[in-house]
Amino acid sequence: MVDLKAQYDKIKPEIDSAISEVINSTAFINGPAVKEFQAALENYLQVKHVIPCANGTDALQISMMVLGLKPGDEVIAPSFTFIATAEAIALLGLTPVLVDVSPDTFNISPEAIRKAITPRTKAIVPVHLFGQTADMDAIMDMAKQHNLYVIEDACQAIGADFMNAAGEWKKAGTIGDIGCTSFFPSKNLGCYGDGGAIFTNDDALAAKIRSIVNHGMVVRYYHDEVGVNSRLDSIQAAVLKVKLPYLDKYAHARQQVAAAYDKAFRGRPELVVPAHFTRSTHVFHQYTLQVTGVDRGELQEYLATKDVPAMIYYPVPIHLQKAYLDPRYKAGDFPVTEQLSHTVLSLPMHTEMEQEQVDYITASVIDFLEGIRA
Ligand SMILES: *Cc1c(COP(=O)(O)O)cnc(C)c1O
Repeated sequence: MVDLKAQYDKIKPEIDSAISEVINSTAFINGPAVKEFQAALENYLQVKHVIPCANGTDALQISMMVLGLKPGDEVIAPSFTFIATAEAIALLGLTPVLVDVSPDTFNISPEAIRKAITPRTKAIVPVHLFGQTADMDAIMDMAKQHNLYVIEDACQAIGADFMNAAGEWKKAGTIGDIGCTSFFPSKNLGCYGDGGAIFTNDDALAAKIRSIVNHGMVVRYYHDEVGVNSRLDSIQAAVLKVKLPYLDKYAHARQQVAAAYDKAFRGRPELVVPAHFTRSTHVFHQYTLQVTGVDRGELQEYLATKDVPAMIYYPVPIHLQKAYLDPRYKAGDFPVTEQLSHTVLSLPMHTEMEQEQVDYITASVIDFLEGIRA
């Protein structure tokens, strides 16, 4: 699905020297590389505060910890997402309120959010799924009207731009009260292990987040609140500092692959190509087809025989996951999510894809379709 080795080979001297520098300095924890990467990312995102942390899941959990929410408070999240989004809510004893997504963009449906708001609702967690943003204007309007926090899960969309009603372009994760991202190796800005970050333009929230990631401590060994230990290693920060200047180029490479896939598959009656939300750029964390006219499992198996990996993100919606079964929900409650879980198929997508590889993949898919139709 990704080729991290080919990507590394192209920037090997820079990466190796950045890693060596950390090792030689032995500043493994909170070394200068962490501050430097933080500043570079603040500048790239045009956001006031970036607080690095250990991974994207921690970023979500810490974001919810700083808002002073109480058990039983409701947090609205999409039913079609990676589990971490709901996990952070559940771990804190908050009540995840799941809502359906839009069938075209796979992102949380503003209409569904509106219907789910109750007097106990405290926050909304839009997920910018597969690399394009949710409809942040509609979400921010509702949040303002109902006095709700917005935590953006931008783990799959770092670098994507959203155009607000005023015509200003904002980076994914910098629009709500808090934004979260992940530097998991296969994410669009991936490090060589685990990593994550939290973004905010709010000074008070930033101060609180900095304390929580560090054991609830501002003055050493004085703990003002219950915190966690969640840090980005210096070695990971050094890798990310080298990779950040390439992020836009990487997004462009992904967009080229997506354009080639679109061209090959658009108009095919058995497939639906991913829709582009007009107010967001798409950084294609995933290129996700809906397979509607043929058997998805057979297509996936056929591709495997051709050595083409294809993955189902996500096969089971959150409300049907064993750990999240809840009398409030049953099969059929989120028809779009459930339909997507039966039809989506993501194709290989990375920054080093050669034209030959794209051609081979599209030809393999089309061979299968034509074989079936013949
Ligand atoms: C990857 C991901 C996360 C979690 O990030 P980790 O760094 O793996 O903890 C959370 N939400 C979404 C939507 C993700 O894709």
